[in-house]
Amino acid sequence: MLRFRSLGQRAGVLVALSGASLASGCATASSITPQQEAQLGAQYAAEINQQLPIVQNSAVHSYINQLGRSIASRVDPRLTYTFYVVNSDEVNAFAVPGGYIYVNRGLIERAATMSELAGVLGHEIGHVVERHGLEQMARMQNTELGVNLAYILLGRQPGALESLALQGGAAVFFASHSRADENQADEVAVQYMVQSGIDPNGIVAMFQRLIDEQQRSPSTVEQWFSTHPLTQDRIQHVQSLIDRLGATSNLRRDSEEYQAFRNRVRQLPR
Ligand code: ZN
Repeated sequence: MLRFRSLGQRAGVLVALSGASLASGCATASSITPQQEAQLGAQYAAEINQQLPIVQNSAVHSYINQLGRSIASRVDPRLTYTFYVVNSDEVNAFAVPGGYIYVNRGLIERAATMSELAGVLGHEIGHVVERHGLEQMARMQNTELGVNLAYILLGRQPGALESLALQGGAAVFFASHSRADENQADEVAVQYMVQSGIDPNGIVAMFQRLIDEQQRSPSTVEQWFSTHPLTQDRIQHVQSLIDRLGATSNLRRDSEEYQAFRNRVRQLPR
């Protein structure tokens, strides 16, 4: 369980939203500035990093950040993106507002080429750019989870009962994205990859791999499927977008650096 009790104490660094809109419970994702989003994300990431087994290997950390930022910096200069590898065999990746993206080693070990991992990173970057996480938080405004956003942004120390309500806060990032959000994240991922010179067919290859794995061993990919609904339709949608773009043969599909990175990840102690 993720804890958020200390968030209120550090709230001095957080800029309160216009108090009126929050107090009346109608904060929307669009009323949060990129600066506020970055601060909010940094708070969540600090808590998440205490709870998850983050890989500390500097070569691994450096490669995934280099690859992820090569995509994100072209499309979203508002935020500085940070990527973390989580030492978990389960296949999953998730994004926190503010540009914090987490990828499990289980997913990296299954991504045979650089473009397959880049496809997942592009998809997660898409969730951040399109502010899907922030919107989910705002939608939950009147539920226990939504209380979290209000209090963090108001910068008020929550009381004991309120703290209880805040405990499940980051669960919002593990909640399922809608099919519309998934399609949108896929669409922008295709654009981002092409802009970054990476073959977007990596998205299709990776998704197909995940669907195949679901048939063989459903439990290893359960986390991914529960947060990112994935169907054959969605893969066909991505494929049709790529087909419309025309030739992709000049785009990068794999690299020696990626294979060295993947080998390193494979050799990490479990
Ligand atoms: Zn998704």
